[in-house]
Amino acid sequence: MAKITLDNLAHSYMPNPKSEDDFALKELNHDWTDGEAYALLGASGCGKSTLLNIISGLLIPSQGRVLFDGQDVTHAPTADRNIAQVFQFPVVYDTMTVEANLAFPLKNRRMDTAEITRRVQKVAAMIGMEDQLNRKARGLTADAKQKISLGRGMVREDVNALLFDEPLTVIDPHMKWELRTQLKKLHADFGHTMIYVTHDQTEALTFADKVVVMHDGRVVQIGTPQELFERPAHTFVGYFIGSPGMNLLDAKIDGRQAQVAGATIDLGRDYDAKGRTQIGVRPEFITLHSGGEGIPARVTRVEDVGRHKIVRLDAGGTPVSAIAGEGEEIPTSIDRIRFAEGGVNIYADDWRVAPAGEAAA
Ligand code: ADP
Ligand code: MG
Repeated sequence: MAKITLDNLAHSYMPNPKSEDDFALKELNHDWTDGEAYALLGASGCGKSTLLNIISGLLIPSQGRVLFDGQDVTHAPTADRNIAQVFQFPVVYDTMTVEANLAFPLKNRRMDTAEITRRVQKVAAMIGMEDQLNRKARGLTADAKQKISLGRGMVREDVNALLFDEPLTVIDPHMKWELRTQLKKLHADFGHTMIYVTHDQTEALTFADKVVVMHDGRVVQIGTPQELFERPAHTFVGYFIGSPGMNLLDAKIDGRQAQVAGATIDLGRDYDAKGRTQIGVRPEFITLHSGGEGIPARVTRVEDVGRHKIVRLDAGGTPVSAIAGEGEEIPTSIDRIRFAEGGVNIYADDWRVAPAGEAAA
């Protein structure tokens, strides 16, 4: 196991990148703590695989260094990095049995036969394929082959890190949850450094201790699920995480006062926000009122989604979503929204502005 350091790392697929736009991965400095389980979350095309492939050595970065426990491996081949990587689509040897496929990474390292059998049995149980060990991989479903790929990734106990690149994409929905649970268990048992790439927020939030959110080639926030929920560092984190995502309202910020949709509200704390300023409030922190203080708004639709209701409103032309209890009546007289205490974040040009006196994260 190892701590992985990214030092001034950046990557462009172009031979002569001219501007930041030409970089698929913008400059990044980060330590992946030894033994931690990370999710790398972001929309398709944001640079997740690029970053993962640089860590594993499939790609040499155009700038910066990769260090394993302080040792520079930037130009070291994948085989020398002692890493297990599982890809989105299965990589299996069709002519080999399931057992031989699973044993392959161990045989390669000349492990003792009894130990190989023990590990293969264990991993076969984790992926639910104990009774198919003697079958040839050829003819198995894509789903089963992907489980073998996952098993091969999990079979070695001595790796520096385990990297998963959207490994459950072709897996049957019922099995997804089960395999994710197995991966978490593997992490609990062996404490490998794990990086799990996904575009699915639920997968990221349930798998990881820390979530690394990427947007447009940039890491915009690294935090616990709670930090991403309470204090999104970037408006992208606000709306990408959460269901529905964070509401954003253009606002004029003056110290502790904000002018939003024709109303003036007290923010409770002082902000020094310049540029394009917005208030971000998650639907969970919007309360609905008839008259009194608040921002004028009217209900446009109420969606019953089972465990709660999503109330869609219009606040001076800006759509706003609020969450209400399952049994809560939504009176037609509602004409104001307010923000619950502690639920407000201020953004300037999409980045969160800390209120005066807030301890640095
Ligand atoms: P993700 O895994 O988040 O979907 P990728 O890392 O695969 O994103 O891609 C990031 C960006 O780099 C995308 O714009 C993609 O088109 C581009 N890209 C990825 N691989 C290559 C490549 N081999 N050559 C050129 N551009 C690439
Ligand atoms: Mg990818």
